[in-house]
Amino acid sequence: MNSLWSPLVGQLTPYVPGEQPKISDLIKLNTNELPYGPSPRAIEAIRDAAGELQLYPDPDAVALRDAIATRYGLTRNEVFTGNGSDEVLAHAFRAFFDHGDPVLFPDVTYSFYPVYCQLFGLPFTRIPVGDDLQVRVEDFSGPCSGVVLASPNAPTGQIFSLDEIRQLLRAVPDRVVLIDEAYVDFGAESSAALIREFRNLLVVQTFSKSRGLAGLRVGFAMGHESLTEALVRVKDSFNSYPLDRLALAGATAAMEDEEWFRQTTARVIATRERLSGLLEELGFRVLPSGANFVYVSHGDRDAAALAAQLRERAVIVRHLKGPRTSAWLRITIGTDEQCEKLVVALRDILKRND
Ligand SMILES: *Cc1c(COP(=O)(O)O)cnc(C)c1O
Repeated sequence: MNSLWSPLVGQLTPYVPGEQPKISDLIKLNTNELPYGPSPRAIEAIRDAAGELQLYPDPDAVALRDAIATRYGLTRNEVFTGNGSDEVLAHAFRAFFDHGDPVLFPDVTYSFYPVYCQLFGLPFTRIPVGDDLQVRVEDFSGPCSGVVLASPNAPTGQIFSLDEIRQLLRAVPDRVVLIDEAYVDFGAESSAALIREFRNLLVVQTFSKSRGLAGLRVGFAMGHESLTEALVRVKDSFNSYPLDRLALAGATAAMEDEEWFRQTTARVIATRERLSGLLEELGFRVLPSGANFVYVSHGDRDAAALAAQLRERAVIVRHLKGPRTSAWLRITIGTDEQCEKLVVALRDILKRND
């Protein structure tokens, strides 16, 4: 079997996505989806677009890029779109990080980054976070092929100020600094504001979290035109039509519905603050989070066992194995009702096994 494979394939350690179980009545707090779903206008636009599926989609995604550019005060050519931000990240790793030196990212962060490095044969260095799992931007410097920072960081929720991002951009002026803003809409400030100041800044965002469209697979990057040009060159050497007609229509309508966006993200933030307090009362350490999840650890309890016991009570959260993360659980912020059920289940578990 293996002799038919290219040698690289056997050496890959692919990314393992959070499970999407088929059980009904489940309280699904494991993959950071938006509990309120997308803008109703997005669903309407997708229905309308379904009538034209015999036609190829717009390979340049002009309407969508214009909607994004308008929202962020940029021009169309400063925006690049792709089939989920995972694909945008893949193209960016390809386009910018092959300079011989390692790519730098924190040792606790989104676990897709090392996977892409492996796939594209890029050396990388994991910069250790502190004992509190917090990234120190001053630790990123020296010869490198680029820097990747999730802001807020995943799975910890750590927020970075624009001054910290500036510090990073100045530390590696001749390399691309990729800021992965998958969670930025839940309480952090977007680095998109710095794009005109720094030609080496690439900001990547997704419709999967704050726009409630994880199932549609749309992500985008924003940066200087010379950066988006490189991404287009990679994309058009791989797949000219990454976004289908439904995705283009739905994402464009979602980006234009500021009202739905503001209401749903505000509700998530309010629930996060409430849930954080309740979890602390139960004896959890809760890291400050600017995302739609909280990262928590309980001094007396094994995190994997807690996740299993929650699962028995039909609540699914994410436990990430690994030396730095095995004592922690990542819990997506659901509706108030879902979070209440989580707390009831945890109360029950903590009471029983004392
Ligand atoms: C969810 C997530 C992504 C991927 O988002 P998609 O657009 O669904 O591919 C990228 N980066 C981080 C840090 C994420 O948590």
